[in-house]
Amino acid sequence: MSLRSACGALVAFFASRTLASCAYGTSLFPRAEGGEVKVNTFGYAGSIGPTNWHLLDVAANQLCATGAHQSPIDMTAGTFSVIPASDVTIDIPDFTEGTEFENLGTTVEVIAKGGQMTIGGVTHTLAQFHFHLPSEHLDNGLSHAMEMHMVWEGPEGQIAVIGTYIDITEGSVAEAPASVPSNVTAPAAPVAPPAAAAPVAAPVAAPVAVAPPAVAHPVAPVAPVAPVVGETAVHPAPAPAPILIRPGSLLHSRQARRDLAREQSKVRRQAAPTAAAPVGVTALLETVLGKVEEIATPGSKVETEPLIMSEVVNIIKAGSFQTYAGSLTTPPCSEGVRWLVSDQSLAINLSTFMKARSVIGFNSRFPQNFLSLAPPASAVVSA
Ligand SMILES: [Zn+2]
Repeated sequence: MSLRSACGALVAFFASRTLASCAYGTSLFPRAEGGEVKVNTFGYAGSIGPTNWHLLDVAANQLCATGAHQSPIDMTAGTFSVIPASDVTIDIPDFTEGTEFENLGTTVEVIAKGGQMTIGGVTHTLAQFHFHLPSEHLDNGLSHAMEMHMVWEGPEGQIAVIGTYIDITEGSVAEAPASVPSNVTAPAAPVAPPAAAAPVAAPVAAPVAVAPPAVAHPVAPVAPVAPVVGETAVHPAPAPAPILIRPGSLLHSRQARRDLAREQSKVRRQAAPTAAAPVGVTALLETVLGKVEEIATPGSKVETEPLIMSEVVNIIKAGSFQTYAGSLTTPPCSEGVRWLVSDQSLAINLSTFMKARSVIGFNSRFPQNFLSLAPPASAVVSA
């Protein structure tokens, strides 16, 4: 299915607007009139969590259960193509008068005041950006502390989303050069992982045309997601997690346990981030999320300080995009969404992250790449 026809289906699918989503603020999910903030009715745990989204609106949300190209995914080699950021034109004016920062109940979101992105000759307009905690996409098996989604809409309702990982750091932009010895020419900056760790993928010839669909990558189960607390996200290698074996479970066979432990160990060895480590605190995030406690109540909003958008644009432009065709990560899980996951990371201070966590809680859908696969043979052992 072409992106255009997929988006046509997307538009048709959005006839029901009972559930706002990550496309909130676009023409598909317009903001409420009169300045009211719509509070979403889905959630991330329990009966309204991701495994039940298709039941919340049976007519509209079926793709949440049956979709073949769903998001987010674990960004492992083979699930995406790489395009240089130079193939994408991004121009976002600074929001010099500030803008609205809203609590939708399922995320906190900044309403855009302009901004254009051109890819493959199609110009999209920035509708909003919002946050997930922890990251929805996995960076080659590893989660980051948060992920920012910039949601763009094309002239025919096409949706494209730029996803950027957010890590936790300590200190501030102003502190960095204070104690640098005179014989050191540059402040020590976190070093990006070796290039060899990055999966190599063929560039997309025509980015807006249909890319090869994100296929389930039959390599191994999803690596355990590292808990996102304190320094864990800065040093993302997860400690080996014990395998819990309960009597009567499918794993009580000694051989099954050995096989699963071997597979988990293999996955852990393979897990290595591909996104470059952030160089310093991202001022935009500090400015926005520094106010998050003022919108702690779902449905509330606040005006931000002036937002300097060029900072984030410059960070993103310095790298590449990992791109694939996926879906909204929220109900109705509509497909035909062009994902552009940046390989450049942003960063916030630990104290700001803690504020964001206290308001956002947990709002990440689990990775979708492996859902069509049977469980590992070792896990299906008869008693
Ligand atoms: Zn999102």
